[in-house]
Formats: sequence, C-alpha cells, structure tokens
Amino acid sequence: MGRLIIISSRLPFSLDKEGDKISLRQSSGGLVSAIKSYFENTSAQRNDLTGKIWMGVADFPQEDWAQAMEQQDAGQEFEVLPVFVDKDLYENYYNGFANSVLWPLFHYFSNLANYETQYFDAYVQVNQLFADKILPLLEPGDQVWIHDYQLMLLPDLLRKKRPDATIGFFLHIPFPSYEIFRLLPTEWKKTLLHGVMGADLIGFHTYDYVQHFLQSVKMLLGVDNYFHNLQYQDRLIRIDLFPIGIDYNKFHLAASDPEVEELRDKILKDLEGKKIIFSVDRLDYSKGLMNRLNGFEYFLERYPEWREKMVFVLNIVPSRDTIPAYNDRKKMIEEKVGTINGRFSSISWQPVIYRYNHLSFKELVALYQAADVALITPLRDGMNLVAKEYVASSTGGRGVLILSELAGAASELGEAILVNPTDTSDVASSITRALAMPLYEQRNRIGLMQRRLQEYDVFKWVNDFMDQLIQVKQEQQKQKVKLLDDKTMAAIQRHYQGAKNRCLLLDYDGTLVPFSKIPSEAAPDNAVKDLLGRLAADPKNHVVIISGRDVNSLDRWLSFLPVTLVAEHGASFKMRNSNWQQKVSVSDLWKEEIRRVMQMFVTRCAGSFIEEKTNTIAWHYRNTQTGLGFSRSRELLNTLSQLIQNTTLQVIDGNKVVEVRIGGFDKGAAALKIINEMDPDFVLCMGDDTTDEDMFKALEGEAYTIKVNNGASSAQYTIMSQQQVLPLLQSLLQPRTIPNSEPEVQLPEAHH
Ligand code: UDP
Repeated sequence: MGRLIIISSRLPFSLDKEGDKISLRQSSGGLVSAIKSYFENTSAQRNDLTGKIWMGVADFPQEDWAQAMEQQDAGQEFEVLPVFVDKDLYENYYNGFANSVLWPLFHYFSNLANYETQYFDAYVQVNQLFADKILPLLEPGDQVWIHDYQLMLLPDLLRKKRPDATIGFFLHIPFPSYEIFRLLPTEWKKTLLHGVMGADLIGFHTYDYVQHFLQSVKMLLGVDNYFHNLQYQDRLIRIDLFPIGIDYNKFHLAASDPEVEELRDKILKDLEGKKIIFSVDRLDYSKGLMNRLNGFEYFLERYPEWREKMVFVLNIVPSRDTIPAYNDRKKMIEEKVGTINGRFSSISWQPVIYRYNHLSFKELVALYQAADVALITPLRDGMNLVAKEYVASSTGGRGVLILSELAGAASELGEAILVNPTDTSDVASSITRALAMPLYEQRNRIGLMQRRLQEYDVFKWVNDFMDQLIQVKQEQQKQKVKLLDDKTMAAIQRHYQGAKNRCLLLDYDGTLVPFSKIPSEAAPDNAVKDLLGRLAADPKNHVVIISGRDVNSLDRWLSFLPVTLVAEHGASFKMRNSNWQQKVSVSDLWKEEIRRVMQMFVTRCAGSFIEEKTNTIAWHYRNTQTGLGFSRSRELLNTLSQLIQNTTLQVIDGNKVVEVRIGGFDKGAAALKIINEMDPDFVLCMGDDTTDEDMFKALEGEAYTIKVNNGASSAQYTIMSQQQVLPLLQSLLQPRTIPNSEPEVQLPEAHH
C-alpha cells in the first residue's frame, strides 16, 4: 500500500480567483491526464496505490494557497503540494542553472551555456527544498516519480535519507553525448550523475540518450553497465528508454468536434487554393527556426513554380523571454520573416504568415488538420510532441510530416520525410517533395505512423514506466547482498566442523593481504603465513590461493606451504605438493601492442606503472593523483576495448588496475576445475575484486561465497573490510560457542 507521488519542477495546477472564491485549476498537460488515466484503468496489480500527490513549484502566492486550502472541497483528484521558492533563488535555479546551463548544453548549444556558480548553488538549494518538503511525508510503499532536468539532484537527496524508497526519474530532454556532458565543471557533472543515480529506474526518450548516459556514468563514476542495468552503491539501477507518447485519441477524435471543424474550414476558406505548410514551436533556439526560414527562403528561390500556390503559417509560442538568448532570437526571426515576405510577396500573396502567440487546443488541432505539410525541423529536441500530434490529428490519411532527424521523435516516425535541419537545400527539396506527394503515399505513411502512436500512447508510457519501476524493486529484493552475520558464521563453522573434505579458495591481494603501493612489496606477513600453515596442516583441508599474481611472486611467497597455487587467474597452476604447470602458451606478440599504449598512459599519469606477467599485462594507478588516475583509466579502458576487438584478449577494470589478459580462462573456470576434481563437502570462497566475481558466479550453490568490502557482487555474503578476513579464517580453526537456534542460512549442498 502506498501513494504515487509525482514531482515536477512546476505544478500543473493554478489558482483561479473570482472575487473571494479561489479554486484550483488543473492544466491540460498530457502528463496530468496520463497519470489520471493510469489510476482510472488500474490493473489488478496496481490496486495497492492508495492516492496520488503532485508536488512542484507554485505559480501562486502562499497566501492564496492558504485561502484555497480553507475553501477546498473534498474529492480532488490529486493532493497538491506546492513548493514556495523565493523569487531570486527561483530565478537563479530556473532561468539560471536549468535553462541557461542544462538546457543549452543538453541540446548541444554549448556556446550558450553560462556556467555561473550562483546558478549551481541555487539549483542545489531548490532541489533540497523539494527534498525537505517531501521527506517528512514519505511513507513505506510510496512510489516517487521525479520529472526532468530541473530536479536531477532530488533522487539522491531522497535516497540518502530513505535507502529503501521506490524512486523513478524521467528526463524529458536529450541526454547529450559524453563529450558534451563533460564540458560541465567536474563537481557539477559528478553531482548531477550521483543525483540521478539515487533513482531505481532512470528513463529517457531514445536509445541514444540511454547510451550517452551510460557512457557518462562509466567515464565519470567508473560504473560499468550490464545491458540496461547498473550496480551502484549496492543497488541495482535500471536505465531504459520510454519514448513518451501523446493522448492519441484526444487529438484523433478532436477532428470531428464541430468547433474544430468550423475553425479548420475557416482557415481553408481564407487560404483557398493554396497549399498550407505549417509549424508551431516555442520560441527556442533548439527549434531551428532560423535554419527553417533559410530553408524556406531557398525553396522559394529554387522552386519558383510554387510561389503564390502555397503559404507557410509560422506559429511561435512565447517562452522564457526574460533570458537574453531567447529574446535576441525573436528579433532575428522577425527580421528574417520580414526579409522573406519583402522579397517574395506580391500584391495578392505573402509567403509567410507569422504569429507570435499561444494557441488554444482547438485552434491548434484545426491548424494540424488544415495543413498539407508540417515542417518540424528542430536542431535538437528531446522528443517533439507537435510532430506526433500532427500525425494523430490527420483524418483520411491526408498530410505530410517533414521532421528533423535530430528530434527524438524521428526514431519512431521513420515514415516522415526526415531532413537535416542545417541542410538548406535538403529542407527546400523536402518541401517540394511533400507538396507534390500523391495522396495514396501520404495515406500509407500517415497510416503506419498513426498505428504506432495509437499503440504506444501516453497511457501506455505511464504504465510501462511504472511496471518497470516495480520490477526493478523486485529484482533488488532478490539480489540484496547479505552482510555476513554471527548466525550465518556459526552455521558455516558448524558445517566446516562436520565436513571431511574441505576446499578453501582464497584470493590473495585485497583478501589475504591488504593492497600495498607497490605490488612486489605485498609479501605475506607472519600472521598470514602462520594461519595458512595451520589451515593447510589439517588433512581434511585443501587450501587454494587463487590469484591474478604472476608465478614468480606466488612461488617465492607461498610455495613452502602445502597449498595449491593458481597464478594469473588460472593461466598457471601449482597443485599441492606438485610442480608448476602452464595452462596456455601463446606468442607474446600481443603484449607489445598493449605495452605501447600502456606506456603512453604511464607518461601521461605520474605514479602509474606497468606490471608484466606471463599471460597478462597490467597498468596500475593506485599511486597516482586521485581523480587523474581514475580519469586516465577510463580513457585507457576505452582505447584498449577498441584495440582488442576481434581478438581473444580481455580487458579487466580492476581495483586501481586495468589489466589485459588472454581470454579463455578465468578464476571461475579454475575454481570449478579444482572442486570438480576433489569433490569436497565444504567449499568456502573469498575475494574482493572484479575477477573474483567469476568465481562467485561459477560456484553459485556450491560454496559459501564471501565478498570482501562493500559493493555490488554476485557473492552470497559480504564482509566490510580486509581486516576481517584473518579473524574469520581463524574462527574456523577455533570456533566460538555455537548458538542453539537453527540458522536462517542457505547452506550449499555438498558437492557431487
Ligand atoms: N502547445 C501548446 N500551446 C500552443 C502550442 C502548442 O500547449 O500554443 C503544445 C503542443 O500541443 C505540444 C507542446 O506544446 O504538446 C509542445 O511540445 P514539444 O515536445 O513539441 O516541444 P517543447 O515545447 O516541449 O519543447
């Protein structure tokens, strides 16, 4: 049981004042009706939602709200939670960071981004205000869905205080390529990513935006994805695409509304005998209005036969006009419209009909219906709903959509005439093609697009997102890595005591010994040697040190013990009381190429060095300046992954090390081989690093797998630090008193 809590920067509600009476009015936005319908069409699974809350910044004064609350009638659809933000703070947050940093940058207008510190500070403060308002109200079972680029820090602010909360985040604008995102000051970009990663499910409009986001997370936070999943701070996060839809029926059915028909007929009559090209956009540089006008002007020049036979109805909706980048644009556009009309008009005809105003829904649909061609050519657009609405509004399959390939909608509307908005001649020739398109072809294209839009409308979109959010939570539950507690440890000890043929698989660095600055100095101290000696002395035990280390080091440090040694992740073995065996022997030529690249990174990153083993070559960055080493390691990973494509080599992103090794063997295969041969009745496996995950996966259900250090892992249990390893092993030799109660631990069955 819980509530759905929608959080967006602006509240889709306003207050209507009539004399003394104040009432709440809901805006007609697609999202509000989609959420409402989600509740109306509740499937059995969703019956657990008990209410809906909408939180956002209010566009009305606090006093009016207080008065409205007194008068408020019950039975309202949403519980409304207005956030009141001081005017100056709001200015720096909304017009500042959101619309003068994130908006231009995410739409690839990096030259318009204005990196003012007070903007970022205000953004942090307003996100915190949102958190402060909702946190005391959050209850277990609530599902929070946060919307858009104005609130990217909020998911993490909530997560920090409520680790178990269910939080979804959706970005309605593009997520840019990493090369653009990285232009943000370092602290800002990391804070933004951390912020968003507080969510359980992160949604974008297109596949490309998902890929760009994953790339930024990898490069900046060092977190790698597994398909659409990320393991981050012990939590599974899903990143997926949910291309937002429209309320298809609302647009499609509006066509037969008598008022719309009347408006449409009037437009057709006024422009009788002329084809109508149409566009509607907010005044925004991302919409490519200047490029569009250039393309249209070139069309008039290049195809004079169309003059006097068509008009271009250009509608611009006022937006953000207090930001200079917007206001300047308006002047430029108006000058350009003037130039085109001045150049091509006749006494009886003018090519561009320009309007700078808001349109009512009915006016808009009437225009969609009247237009022969919609010319929608943004330079960047997260999705572009106008394109979808135009297609949905068509009756009888009439109409041609010319759409920018740089709009998110282009990936769903492949039957449109796709153009590059900066290519003037492409735009011009697309207009002639559209004007001359035979009706059967128009119908065919519109029909295919309509079916798709009807299928995945905004209601499906909400459903899809909410279903996925529930699914991620279920998977997190399944996957929760358990901290090894006393009860479980007691059960392991009991199993150990009763077993006759035990196998202990132990990683070396980071598990048996702590990491040292120089790998060759990480020799085992007396405590380790003594403990391993005592474990190995028990004839019921088979101790295996399974490491990525080279043969020489392991041999020098540990061959005096009756234990099995596995070097270089399984490339070489020294079975107990026997000699070293090399599992692979291939030419060393590959190493030269890799060494050359790594050498370059050694030069570019002071303190890093190369370690060369028989079958692996590693670049260590433990001793480098924090941050620099990490970012160089991301670059190296990128370079190496490309270099080794189509080879049998593998790159491993280890703990402060990037390693390339010959593929075909790993610790998992090595561990399995050993236990298959010895058929033990007790297996304990401990490790701390990426390569140990291979063992944890391979031994699932066969062993107690324990991961050293917190972090996502396939291991069954975790312990918090390397310092706990020796005491844990020690306790197997000298068990503490064992509690009587039965453990709630899943014991691996004896291996057969
Ligand atoms: N729209 C509007 N008033 C108008 C003209 C258009 O509300 O006068 C609506 C239009 O129906 C569409 C939205 O504004 O749903 C524009 O969405 P789009 O994704 O095309 O662009 P955005 O403005 O979000 O960048």
